[in-house]
Amino acid sequence: MIPAAFDYLRPATVEDAVAALAEAGEEAKVLAGGHSLLPVLRLRLAAPTLLVDLGGLAQLRGTRLDGDTLVLGAMTTHAEVVGSAEVAAAAPLLAQAAATVGDRQVRHRGTLGGSLAHADPAGDLPTVAVALDAELVLAGPAGRRTVPAREFFLDYFTTALRPDELLVEVRVPRLAGWGTHYEKVSRTAQAWATVAVAAAVQRQNGTITQARVALTSMGPTPVRATAVEQALAGGSADAIAEAAGHAAEGTHPASDTTASADYRRHLATVLTRRALAAAAGL
Ligand SMILES: Cc1cc2nc3c(=O)[nH]c(=O)nc-3n(C[C@H](O)[C@H](O)[C@H](O)COP(=O)(O)OP(=O)(O)OC[C@H]3O[C@@H](n4cnc5c(N)ncnc54)[C@H](O)[C@@H]3O)c2cc1C
Repeated sequence: MIPAAFDYLRPATVEDAVAALAEAGEEAKVLAGGHSLLPVLRLRLAAPTLLVDLGGLAQLRGTRLDGDTLVLGAMTTHAEVVGSAEVAAAAPLLAQAAATVGDRQVRHRGTLGGSLAHADPAGDLPTVAVALDAELVLAGPAGRRTVPAREFFLDYFTTALRPDELLVEVRVPRLAGWGTHYEKVSRTAQAWATVAVAAAVQRQNGTITQARVALTSMGPTPVRATAVEQALAGGSADAIAEAAGHAAEGTHPASDTTASADYRRHLATVLTRRALAAAAGL
């Protein structure tokens, strides 16, 4: 299908983009890589009267270190995340998960900011942002505000972004001395996760001092498996299998054509065990 008619704007500054959004209100949509938005427009699930293309905002692209924080521009593509030496050093979990997104074409066009703003419950990078306690910087008419990833995802395809705000930056604290792993199962290669698990483990003298576990496709938003985290803290690596048994607690997975909710709960347990073991270097 052909999308409904819309006006097109390619601003040169973040301020111009925000001003255009503020003027158009709910009628405008932001365009990043277009990999999720264009199908929505073609199916006429949305019919914005204005598209604000962020493609000209070079300042929203790339990665840098700010002390112990990795800063990624919202327009940084998945391929750039995968190839960045800074990401590899400061947040290898993010690079590992980004490498599982779609295929090369998707990773070449799709952006980190687009993936987070789209908030698909099967998206890989929202889960990693939640696991890593990332902070998202949003720019609006009144200036910038910072929202923790754990408060950004509100519901299916719904975030804390207001219609006149842009996601401009993702800030990821470096987890020095932690092991991390992303474990994903999809029905076919290069596809969305049926279930996936992001795990981070800090070990000292054989003891797991802290663990973080976040789940993809186990509810309307990415969720932290806090029962697993609590069961592991202060324990030995031997506790991983038992702790992983708590993975599905408090989750609300959907039953759909890909998998039943029960199968997703089972997958969450198995993948959590595997992800934690890999993160712990076992
Ligand atoms: C074939 C295929 C396979 C895929 N497989 C996977 C997969 O395995 N895992 C996965 O996680 N994803 C997958 N994706 C999705 C991919 O990651 C997309 O790139 C992503 O969902 C959206 O990013 P985008 O840059 O294309 O955003 P767009 O499609 O341009 O935008 C998506 C939404 O976010 C909004 N938006 C975008 N950027 C901003 C911003 N900076 N501020 C505010 N709002 C913004 C837009 O208005 C729109 O509502 C797949 C996509 C395709 C087409």
